[in-house]
Amino acid sequence: MKKLIKTLPILMACTGIMASAIAGPHWGYEGKETPENWGKLSPEYQMCDLGKNQSPVNITGPIHAEVNNLDIHYDLISGTIINNGHTVQINDKNANDYLTVDGEQFKLTQFHFHAPSENQINGKTYPMEAHFVNQNKDGELLVMAVMLEEGKSNPIAAQLLSLLNDKENTPTNINGIDIRTFLPEVSDYYRFSGSLTTPPCSEGVTWIVLKQPITLSKSEITKFKSVFKHHNNRPVQPLHGRLIISN
Ligand SMILES: [Zn+2]
Repeated sequence: MKKLIKTLPILMACTGIMASAIAGPHWGYEGKETPENWGKLSPEYQMCDLGKNQSPVNITGPIHAEVNNLDIHYDLISGTIINNGHTVQINDKNANDYLTVDGEQFKLTQFHFHAPSENQINGKTYPMEAHFVNQNKDGELLVMAVMLEEGKSNPIAAQLLSLLNDKENTPTNINGIDIRTFLPEVSDYYRFSGSLTTPPCSEGVTWIVLKQPITLSKSEITKFKSVFKHHNNRPVQPLHGRLIISN
């Protein structure tokens, strides 16, 4: 069990405004700051090079297991939405948003988007991927990923985009956004051990990738991509013998 003190920098690196105030060396997705170089940008980021349980991964050959159902209790999101220069991120302050897995409760802290997807399923890359970052009482992280593909318009995504200030690091308050309809109805999932997909690439993160994607319209995907200005996905990392289980 990790101590809270160890995971504090992880959380800060994940959370929009705080990250800009206390973040380590600049990193990105282009030029010298590209993912291949993250581990060399700073000693703090060395896990990006040295880690053996890194994310994202290509999900292949999952082992079927009797795993507990995932219970998602996301209700009304209240907090801020921000373009933090790396992604569009929604920081959630509602203490009633949580999920339980294996009887353990994880509170939703934020969610954000990548385009294209970071994880792959059987080698398939999706147009986008949403990451819901959750934390238990010991500070351990669980990221629930949802794949996004092109299709019907998504009212919640449209609502979020309408609230977003395109300007970097300029948060907008949001209050009471119901994201229950944003998530797929079926919560069958893949599960594996991994890391943050951004510096400092800290490990010990539980990953749950939902099997069922949700849809966004072409124009909603285009709008997200225009905010990011460039792709913001880390390439897939070697499994190094890790097992992926599925229900
Ligand atoms: Zn992410």
